[in-house]
Amino acid sequence: MSAIEWFLLAAIPALLASSIYFRFVKPWRAVRRDLEKLATGDHRLPPLTSDYAPYFESAGHIRKISSLLEQLDRQVVEEGLSLRAILSGMREGILLVNRRMRTTLCNPALEGVFPEIKKFLDRTVLEIFRRHELQHAVELALRTGHTSDLELLFDSGTTGQSRTFRIHVSAITAENETSPRAVLLVFQDITAMRSLEAVRREFVANVSHEFRTPLTIINGYVETLRDGALADPDMAEKSLDAIHRNVQRLALLLEDLLAISSLENRARPLDCARADLRETAHRVMGHLAPKIEERHATVRIDWPDDARFAEVDIRRIEQIFSNLLANALQHGESERLAIRISANQSGKDLHIAIEDNGAGIPLEAQAHIFERFYRVDRHRARDAGGTGLGLSIVKNILLAHGGSISVTSTPGEGSTFHIRLPVVQQKESRE
Ligand code: ADP
Repeated sequence: MSAIEWFLLAAIPALLASSIYFRFVKPWRAVRRDLEKLATGDHRLPPLTSDYAPYFESAGHIRKISSLLEQLDRQVVEEGLSLRAILSGMREGILLVNRRMRTTLCNPALEGVFPEIKKFLDRTVLEIFRRHELQHAVELALRTGHTSDLELLFDSGTTGQSRTFRIHVSAITAENETSPRAVLLVFQDITAMRSLEAVRREFVANVSHEFRTPLTIINGYVETLRDGALADPDMAEKSLDAIHRNVQRLALLLEDLLAISSLENRARPLDCARADLRETAHRVMGHLAPKIEERHATVRIDWPDDARFAEVDIRRIEQIFSNLLANALQHGESERLAIRISANQSGKDLHIAIEDNGAGIPLEAQAHIFERFYRVDRHRARDAGGTGLGLSIVKNILLAHGGSISVTSTPGEGSTFHIRLPVVQQKESRE
């Protein structure tokens, strides 16, 4: 064989091999590289060039898949962001439980109430909350798709305050599946609502009780009159006196209830104007003169000129003085009952003290006397004609003015009620 033949024999396969490499192997490698990139999750592929021939079509399909995947990626990120925004914007607590009954996700609202909850994700609700009824509801939802609502009271270890939650437990089932994939628990804090209901219930019970006693007495005396007491002048007068006393008590009760309701509902806004409070105190003292005399009490008013005026709803302030003075006269058992009203202005506030040397108030009762219907000695206070609403009205009037009231008292020595009242009304406190 000649040298040329030898050369051709060696060159042709090499040329053939190089042609196969450039025409098929190299483009295929490029395609394979693209596929590998996709497989690792990197969806950004280089642009289609002549390097890909003869696999143009396949490389084009791969690019289409890649752009679809990229779109999907964006969608997932966007949906994730929206989901996170919804979850963190919700006031309700959210907890997700998977098919294996393990918790997988919770939102900031739930973390706010159960601060440790994130640490316990991947555990069952029974392990986290130790409530069998909740675990049972989750199991039922997973097994049958059943939705349930539970109301549970939880002790909050850190604050010591227990909270009531309404928990809505529902199954999450995918569109084309029959058995639930997960369970969603929505926690709604209804503590405030429940305690408001309890306060309302207690209020209605108290009001009914307060009305029932005088009505029973009136009824009794009317029957006595009907049964012949009318013919007996002494008995008739005694009965009429009792009826009159109890009708007055009912009227007083109604008046106090209306005062409370109008203050609490803000039905009638305060009618504030600059007024002379010292003069008002004197006026109230004048109204109560018969009672002061009857009790052989002395009332002293120490009120300097420079603390006389404030911007107030004077009609309501008059009621404060009237209630506090009436209390001092009513609950002061001292033989020589002495009441002193004093005032001074410091900064933007007027400080008024109403002091008596009467029976005083036990320490444990001092925290409660401003509550509606609270009386230290229920029967005696009621028999004395009190409604148990006087101090609650006083407190509400002061709150409406942006002021406050507190008490200091030593049983057996007397009590002092301390009032703080802004001299000028802030717009918001009036509203
Ligand atoms: P009441 O109509 O019974 O007076 P209040 O709300 O005015 O109701 O007062 C609540 C309770 O606080 C009274 O029943 C009484 O036990 C106690 N209290 C109020 N003021 C005095 C006072 N100056 N001295 C002693 N106890 C008082």
